[in-house]
Amino acid sequence: MMYHEISNQLIDFIKKSPSAFHAVRTMADILTAEGFIELKENKKWDVRQGGRYYVTRNDSSLIAFTVPKRNMKGMRIIASHSDSPSFKIKENPEMESDKHYIKLNVEKYGGMLCAPWFDRPLSVAGRLIIKDKETGGYRCVLADVDRDLVLIPNLAIHMNREVNDGYKYNAQKDMLPLYGDITAKGSFMKQVAASAGISEEEILGHDLFLYNRQEASIWGASHEFISCGRLDDLQCAFASLQGFLAGAKEDYMAVHCVLDNEEVGSGTKQGAASTFLYDTLTRVHDCLGCTREEYLIHLADSFMISADNAHAVHPNHTDKTDPSNRPYINEGIVIKFNANQKYCTDGVSAAMFRDICKTADVPVQTFINRSDMLGGSTLGNISNTKVALNTVDIGLPQLAMHSPYETAGVKDTAYLIKAAGEFFC
Ligand code: ZN
Repeated sequence: MMYHEISNQLIDFIKKSPSAFHAVRTMADILTAEGFIELKENKKWDVRQGGRYYVTRNDSSLIAFTVPKRNMKGMRIIASHSDSPSFKIKENPEMESDKHYIKLNVEKYGGMLCAPWFDRPLSVAGRLIIKDKETGGYRCVLADVDRDLVLIPNLAIHMNREVNDGYKYNAQKDMLPLYGDITAKGSFMKQVAASAGISEEEILGHDLFLYNRQEASIWGASHEFISCGRLDDLQCAFASLQGFLAGAKEDYMAVHCVLDNEEVGSGTKQGAASTFLYDTLTRVHDCLGCTREEYLIHLADSFMISADNAHAVHPNHTDKTDPSNRPYINEGIVIKFNANQKYCTDGVSAAMFRDICKTADVPVQTFINRSDMLGGSTLGNISNTKVALNTVDIGLPQLAMHSPYETAGVKDTAYLIKAAGEFFC
């Protein structure tokens, strides 16, 4: 069945992407195989009409785009994010515990649900920075230990009788993963280096994160649910990429944009608050010989879909969702609204997106926070402060957002691929 084929492709995509760096590498590999040309920010660009390109920043954000063969009408952009909440490995990570264990010192990255990180095999992935012997410059090598390596053990109920009445997790005390017995001392960075095919001495810098090892699953009465780590937001990144590759891309510059650091507010050199998207769009216009005014004319005729997963109604907590805007899993793409513009959807962009979905024959739903609850935010409105254009915030409905094992629907990925294909017309 089509839904399960797509779900299996999504699972494969996420499995290859245990960190934001890996997600960018996975997409770059797919784009290269499709014939896209990689551009480097520190080299001159040769961008032509009819060409297909991608560029990365910080190894963790990626923008792929196609240039129409003639008469560009504007730009069509889908933006999602490459990062997920996790625990980052600190410098000098090994800590001896009671002279018998080696555990790792970690810090929180983003706002995760802590409880589901306990008692499950975890591994470590990210990037290592080394000096390139030939060029003398710095080079990033990806590392993924890719086996059950560490685990954060719970404290037994006998030693914490009140735990089921609610527990406040202390990130410095409760969340440190166990790495080995005392004989493991001094071996952690060696193992990480070995996984990247280098020696520990070569490592000058690192950005390493924990990730959940539990295999993805398609489950439920009719196999309608998919559970996996990092669905937020790799489900949208995957669907956006598939739609981008499938779309005709005839009249508009099509842009598939996946940015890092959404989970920590986007305020980095490669995040949605950065100049990455602006620099890329204006540079393409410069390369094509367009004037500044032509860029602004194109921008005014452009549209962006900010795609970041949405909260489905929770079966045990149905009261947490707005009384009249109630998204359900497998019932379509969710348009997100917020009066205070945490989501940048407005009447105009909602209308445009509904129309795209209608043409694509894809169902849509709506999400708005209960008026007495604060909601999350995403990258659309942040990106709009650098590149201002009509933007809709959407997402695929999911449960347990920011757990290391999230749950979504097999049909919704297919809906977004279809809508994205229609959008990139
Ligand atoms: Zn997200």
